Amino acid sequence: MHSKFARVIIDRAIRRELDYAIPESLSARVGIGARVRVPFRDRRALATVVALLEETNAKGIREIEAVIGEGPTLSEPLLQLARWIASYYCCPIEAVMRSLLPQVIRRAEVGWKKQQFVEIGSIVTSERMEALRRRAPRQAELLEELTKANAALPAAEILRRLSLNVSTLQALVKRGLLKISERAVARDPHAGEQFIPGPELLLNEEQTAAFATIVRAISSAEKAKPILLHGVTGSGKTEIYLQAIRETLTRNRTAIVLVPEISLTPQTVERFKSRFAESQDDVAVLHSHLSEGERHDEWHKVHSGRARIVIGARSAVFAPLKNLGLIVVDEEHETSYKQEEAPRYHARDVAVVRAKIEKAVVLLGSATPSLESYHNTLTKKYELATLTQRVDNCQMPLIRVIDLRQEQRSERAPILSERLRTAISARVAKREQTILFLNRRGFSTSLLCSKCGKARDCPNCSVALTFHRSMSRLNCHLCGHTAAVPKKCPECGQDALIYVGFGTEKVESTVAQIFPNAVVKRMDADSMSRKEAYRETLRAFRAGKIDILVGTQMIAKGLHFPNVTLVGIINADLALHLPDFRAGERTFQLLTQVAGRAGRGETPGEVFVQSYTPFSPSIQFARHHDFAGYVEQELEFRERCDFPPFKHAVLITVHSAHQERGKFSAETLRRKLREALPEEFMVAEAAPAPLEKLSGQYRFHILLRGSAITRLSRLIRETLDKLPMPEDVAVAVDVDPYQLL
Ligand code: ADP
Ligand code: ZN
Repeated sequence: MHSKFARVIIDRAIRRELDYAIPESLSARVGIGARVRVPFRDRRALATVVALLEETNAKGIREIEAVIGEGPTLSEPLLQLARWIASYYCCPIEAVMRSLLPQVIRRAEVGWKKQQFVEIGSIVTSERMEALRRRAPRQAELLEELTKANAALPAAEILRRLSLNVSTLQALVKRGLLKISERAVARDPHAGEQFIPGPELLLNEEQTAAFATIVRAISSAEKAKPILLHGVTGSGKTEIYLQAIRETLTRNRTAIVLVPEISLTPQTVERFKSRFAESQDDVAVLHSHLSEGERHDEWHKVHSGRARIVIGARSAVFAPLKNLGLIVVDEEHETSYKQEEAPRYHARDVAVVRAKIEKAVVLLGSATPSLESYHNTLTKKYELATLTQRVDNCQMPLIRVIDLRQEQRSERAPILSERLRTAISARVAKREQTILFLNRRGFSTSLLCSKCGKARDCPNCSVALTFHRSMSRLNCHLCGHTAAVPKKCPECGQDALIYVGFGTEKVESTVAQIFPNAVVKRMDADSMSRKEAYRETLRAFRAGKIDILVGTQMIAKGLHFPNVTLVGIINADLALHLPDFRAGERTFQLLTQVAGRAGRGETPGEVFVQSYTPFSPSIQFARHHDFAGYVEQELEFRERCDFPPFKHAVLITVHSAHQERGKFSAETLRRKLREALPEEFMVAEAAPAPLEKLSGQYRFHILLRGSAITRLSRLIRETLDKLPMPEDVAVAVDVDPYQLL
C-alpha cells in the first residue's frame, strides 16, 4: 500500500516543510530520504522527502514531478540527525541538508562514468579460427585474447595493449563474433596503487587494556558511553582504531574514521587501505580534493553498501553507511572539525549524537584532548582510556624553552636564537633532520613607515597587509586583497618604509643563508598550492633529501619522520595572546603536537621553544609533558569565568557594510535578547568584534552563555524571527563557537 502524500524540505531557504501528492507512476520510488523535483511557486525546486503521509490539511496540493537519482538517498537516522543539528546549532534545516548530501548527489547531474566493454559474442570453432588467422591475423589475435580472458574487458584498454585499432574490433562486432556493452566504472582516486596487506600488531599492555574497554563497548553498543582515548603521540592509537574497526566489521557493522583534513594524507589513507587490503573496495575516502565524479562514485560505493569503512574529513560524519557500528574521531581536539559557515556544526559532537541515534560506539582519540571531552570523562559522561607510553619506548623529547627577551639585546627580533642555531648546525653536520615551525605565512608581517608610523592596512579588513617576496606584493590573509609595494609612504610621502615582523618565507630564506650547505624547503599554503606539491615535499623529506623543513601547522600534525631529531618553534607566543579564552589551550596543544614530531626513531628528539613569555603556564606545562597539571589549572580558570566546558557559549555576529547600521542593529538585537531570555542566561553587551572589519563588513559581537543550550538556541531563533533586520545587515549565530575574532 503506497502513501498518498510526501512531506518535503525544499533546497531553498524557506524554513517550512511542504506537502505534495505522490503520483501513481512514482509511488514505488518515493520513499523517505528520496530526492524529488517539485513545482514551487512559479518555478521548480529540488527537495528531500522527509515523511510519507496518508492525508494532509494543506491546501492547493500539487504533485511531485520526478524522482532525482536512483532512490532514497538519506536514511531515517540521518534525517533525525539533520533535525538535531538544525535545532542545536540554530540554523535552517535546508542548510543542514546541503551539508548532509554532497552537491553532486543532491543535483544528480553527474552519473557513473561509462566505459565500453567487449566480450565474446559467439563461440568460434577451431577451424574457423584457423581460417581467420590466415585471412585476418589481427582479428584473430583479438578474438583469441578475449577467448582466453573469458570475460568482458574494457575495449580501449585491450586495443591499446595489442596495438590494434578500432576497425579490427568493429569488423568482429559486425559479424557477431564479439559484442560490446556499456558499463559503469568507478573513478577510484587510488586506482593503480598497490596495497600490501598489513598484519595486525600484537598490542602492548596499555593498548590491550584500552582495547578491552572498546570491545566491551562494541559488544553492548546500546548502552555504551563515548570513549576518549588519551594517548601520547606515538603510543599506538591508530593501531587501536584499526583493530576496533576489525572488531566492528566481524559483527557485520560498518565504521567511519574522521581525521582533520590536514592529516588526511596519502600516508594515513594507505595505512587503512593496507590493513583491509584483502577487500580493497571496503575503504571509501571522502574529502574536499575529490573531483565531482570521484565524489559521486565514492558516495555511491558507501550508499550501496560496497564500502564498509569510510575515512574522511569533517563531512564524512554524514557518510551514508548502513548498520553503523563505530565512529572514530582522530585528533578530536582539532578545531578544523568545526564548520565555520552554516550549519556551524562540530563534527566530533555530531559524531557523538549520530552514534547515539544509530546505537554505535564513538571513539575519540587525541594526545591533547579538548577540555570539553576531557571534562566529560571527569563527569562520567564519557569513558577514559589512557596510553602513557610510546610504543617504541622512545623517550619523550626534551623540551627547552628559550627566553627571547635575553636574545633581543644582541639583535632586533631574532629569528633563530643562538642555541637553536647551534642545535640546527649539529643536526646538519650529522645529517639528521630539523623541522622549524611558525604559524604565520609570508615574508614580513607588515610594511611600516618609520617616519609617520602608519602601516599598510587592508582596505577591506582591520589587519595589516603581509609582504610576500615570492610574488613581490602585499597580501591580505583574510580577504585575499593584494596591492603593489609602494616606493614611498602613501600617507606622508617620505621614503621611510621598513619591513617589520616575519613569516615562514623569511624564516626559509634566513635559514638558507645561515646554512648554505643544507637543503631547506618550505611547506605552507603558499608553497603548497598545488595538490601534488604536498605529496612531493613529504616524500622528499621522508627520503632524507631535505635537511630543514620550515612550515606552518601543515607540518604539525600526525606525520611520522624517524630521522627528525630537532624541532624548533620559532615563536610560541603567536597563539597565546589572541583575545580568545582558548588561547592557552591552543598553545598547549600546538606545542605538544609539534614536539611529538621529534625523535620518533632511535635517536631521542630535542625541541626548542622560543618565547617572549617563557613562564606562561601553557608553555611550562607542555615543557614538562604535564597534561594533568595543565588541565587542572585551565579548568579552574574556565569554571571561575563561566566559560566552556562549564557553560555553553553562543556567539552572534551582526555585520554590515554600514558601520552605524550594524552597530544599531546589534544593540537592538542585544536588548531584545535580554528581554526574551531568563536570568540564567548571560548576555554580554554588543561590542565591536576584535576583528572589527572583514572583507568590507563591520562586525559586532554578542556573546551569550548558559547551561541549557537547546533552550538557548530556541529562544535565540524565536527572537531573531520576530526582529527583521535591515536589508544590508546580516546575522550569524554560532553555537559552541571556536572562532572568537
Ligand atoms: P599514534 O596514532 O598514537 O600516534 P601509531 O598507532 O601511529 O601511534 O603508532 C606509532 C608506531 O608504532 C606505528 O609505526 C605503529 O605501526 C607502531 N605500533 C603501534 N602499536 C604497536 C604494537 N603493539 N607493536 C608494535 N608496533 C606498534
Ligand atoms: Zn582584507
